[in-house]
Amino acid sequence: MNDTVEIKVPDIGDFKDIDVIEVLVKPGDAVEKETSLITVESDKATMEIPSPAAGVVKALKLKVGDKVSEGTLILLLETAADADARAPQPPQAPATAATASGPSLPVSAPAAVAPAAAAEATGADLRADVVVLGSGPGGYTAAFRAADLGKKVVLIERYASLGGVCTNVGCIPSKALLHVARVITEAEEFAANGVAFGKPAIDIGKIRAWKDDVVAKGTKGIAGLAKQRKVNVVEGVGSFESAHVVSVKAANGASTRIAFEHCIIATGSSVARLPGLPYDDPRLMDSTGALELADIPRRLLVIGGGIIGLEMACVYDALGAKVTVVEMADGLIPGADRDLIRPLAKRIEKRYEAVYLNAKVAKLEPKPEGLLATFEGEVKPQQQLFNRVLLAVGRRPNGAGIGAERAGVAVDARGFIPVDKQQRTNVPHIFAIGDVCGEPMLAHKATHEAKVAAETIAGHKVAFDAMTIPSVAYTDPEVAWMGLTETEAKKQGIAYEKASFPWAASGRARSIGRAEGSTKLLYEPQSKRLLGAGIVGVNAGELIAELVLALEMGADMEDIGLTIHPHPTLSETPFFAAEMAMGSITDLYLPKK
Ligand SMILES: Cc1cc2nc3c(=O)[nH]c(=O)nc-3n(C[C@H](O)[C@H](O)[C@H](O)COP(=O)(O)OP(=O)(O)OC[C@H]3O[C@@H](n4cnc5c(N)ncnc54)[C@H](O)[C@@H]3O)c2cc1C
Repeated sequence: MNDTVEIKVPDIGDFKDIDVIEVLVKPGDAVEKETSLITVESDKATMEIPSPAAGVVKALKLKVGDKVSEGTLILLLETAADADARAPQPPQAPATAATASGPSLPVSAPAAVAPAAAAEATGADLRADVVVLGSGPGGYTAAFRAADLGKKVVLIERYASLGGVCTNVGCIPSKALLHVARVITEAEEFAANGVAFGKPAIDIGKIRAWKDDVVAKGTKGIAGLAKQRKVNVVEGVGSFESAHVVSVKAANGASTRIAFEHCIIATGSSVARLPGLPYDDPRLMDSTGALELADIPRRLLVIGGGIIGLEMACVYDALGAKVTVVEMADGLIPGADRDLIRPLAKRIEKRYEAVYLNAKVAKLEPKPEGLLATFEGEVKPQQQLFNRVLLAVGRRPNGAGIGAERAGVAVDARGFIPVDKQQRTNVPHIFAIGDVCGEPMLAHKATHEAKVAAETIAGHKVAFDAMTIPSVAYTDPEVAWMGLTETEAKKQGIAYEKASFPWAASGRARSIGRAEGSTKLLYEPQSKRLLGAGIVGVNAGELIAELVLALEMGADMEDIGLTIHPHPTLSETPFFAAEMAMGSITDLYLPKK
């Protein structure tokens, strides 16, 4: 027996009376659940409305050009009475990844719950709905979200302290030390404006203790949040025994077997190493070593002009080290547009001992008085002695060494675990998130992916479909960018126009003595819709968030340029750039074209 059901426009957020621009089915068509029925478009977004049920289209109730809102009748669908979708369900709302297409984006069906095979689970010490391997920002977020959604969760971490790289030896301690650097350099540079504090008295032990305290508060907070949610934390190194059992080896040799319905791999990444360097010499540091702040070297060599290397260079420079940076590429922070890097490069060229581009370290030899670097490239002298060397040439994913093969989980040659939009690996009940599942290796990517994985496991219909993942170098000045870069646009032949607002015209930038920045917007030439943005200047990392939201909301130059921003703030700079795009700026004079 068949039923006829009315298919209506589901909850589409704030959109009302928006245009139907395509009707994708006709009477007589057989549709599956999730088949797109119509496409609607507002001035902000285009979205497809999927069918909430399988069946045959009996009659269409609208046409191209009609206006629809939530509840507008789209069509009549004849459904098999015994089909699972007899009563059409509204699409589930919690689309974690912010998307201009809204919550009704078609996504593939959630994984069927795979029950732990009884035989494999025999003898297990613990059983969990969800096992999370690794407690970084990806892992703890996934564990907490899954617990909040009613799952019994075990979180495995090899170290006593939760929080992973980000909390312990990454984002947080580096930003604590960068704040120290900012205090020192701001005070130092303000002498020129009439307030001289004199040479700072640096107590490196106290700085270290302060940074350690910032970290400890974070890791203890995470442990407390785990306890409140009754997430069972198991300490030790976890590896798969099979597709349904992880075994955890504690430092004392004891092992715990945990049977699971679902697993989320969140093992993160480790420091990448170059071959042939003297790693047993403590004067050769990685980022973790540099964050320990053992001393302030007289001369520091930073190998790698990427974000992590330059952030640590900024810290040691402020503390008084003479810093040299060597980078293989022809510019610093290769992923960012060159105009954004220029003010940073200019400042550090003045402050640092040297910045060598198109150059590399061919040899590093331990000597009693320091590490002797032999350079290749335009470097003079070719051999130089440094008190310490920081190697910051990237990170590699921790996909290998967790017994993934015993669970049947594919790991690529570089150690990444490929996933789909729901963060599922090739084994449907095993998920991967964060650094281990792909670039960019950033904490905010890990946490968003974590929520998608946990919500998918809980049966929500979600996908990771963020339009952009912003990047920030917390250097001095900061550099931040999101969406399309000019370099990418040129490479891919994407048409764009740009408006670049110089901070020299910002009253706030001038009043804090940092007018070297700029804020650049890239937009579509016709619609003037935002495509991407880049900011260089103090607090660029805070300012970029507005533009990420603007991109996700499909904002155009008028949306940004007609939004009243408080004066005088650096937050006005995207607004001024948008006014430049609109031709209405009065804070600058732009000659008529
Ligand atoms: C110096 C530095 C500064 C950074 N600054 C920033 C920043 O400002 N902003 C930003 O977004 N990102 C920053 N990052 C990157 C950021 O730290 C990572 O992207 C983020 O930590 C990744 O999170 P994750 O959960 O994927 O993995 P991780 O944080 O790497 O956590 C993985 C966890 O898994 C554990 N683990 C691994 N294998 C096992 C196993 N077999 N058994 C048990 N436990 C295991 C590890 O011990 C670790 O605790 C920085 C990184 C560094 C090194």
